[in-house]
Amino acid sequence: MLELRSATKTYDDGHPVHALRETDLFIGEGDYLTVTGASGSGKSTLLNLLGLLDVPTTGSYHVLGTPVNELGETHRGAVRGQVFGFIFQNFHLLAGRSALENVEMGMLYGPYGRRERRRLARETVERLGLGHRAHADPRMMSGGERQRVAVARAVAGRPRVLFCDEPTGNLDSANTDNVLEALRGLNAEGLTLVVVTHDRAVAAEGRRRIAVTDGSVAEHEPAA
Ligand code: ADP
Ligand code: MG
Repeated sequence: MLELRSATKTYDDGHPVHALRETDLFIGEGDYLTVTGASGSGKSTLLNLLGLLDVPTTGSYHVLGTPVNELGETHRGAVRGQVFGFIFQNFHLLAGRSALENVEMGMLYGPYGRRERRRLARETVERLGLGHRAHADPRMMSGGERQRVAVARAVAGRPRVLFCDEPTGNLDSANTDNVLEALRGLNAEGLTLVVVTHDRAVAAEGRRRIAVTDGSVAEHEPAA
């Protein structure tokens, strides 16, 4: 469903920074990939290319068979909004809005009307075990609850792929377990997951493990 072919990313800060060296990566429907590597190795660069948040310097990228390099930013934005969901380390929730409102706002740029957004938000908040917190302000929530609200916001509009950059980076182990359980459940329902992490326990969740070293991407052989 996602395919990078000979993709590279080079930043030019006066001198070239090879953030991603030539990479071929095929991601199938329902895959669960975890991506590890040292700070500065290129993990976020890879995630940003896959998530259409950035464009490769060379090479191509296909999403659901469409060569997205050739699309203009409006089209790329539409694919991003309808096919992809994102969660980040720092939650990025709006304070002063309820959990439910945050989840609804995540669907503003998708195809759903107001009533449908409300219905999907309620359903997703319940499914992630946050029904009792639906009207709470994220500021009053634990880190784990906040991250589950962020997961709900990312998946309520039914994306096909969820990209997570250090989703448990700010959580203690009990809250990490809660978020991992939520991700496992979503993957079991068919959602494709790509999760960047420093945490070994989180990395172990993936059925495919990718290591990034100095811009080079390698896949671990699956354990026998
Ligand atoms: P990671 O997520 O593994 O910590 P990144 O993908 O963020 O690593 O960064 C990979 C390399 O690319 C680093 O050397 C980083 O400094 C560089 N880099 C990332 N973003 C930019 C940018 N916008 N401009 C210049 N260099 C960048
Ligand atoms: Mg990063």
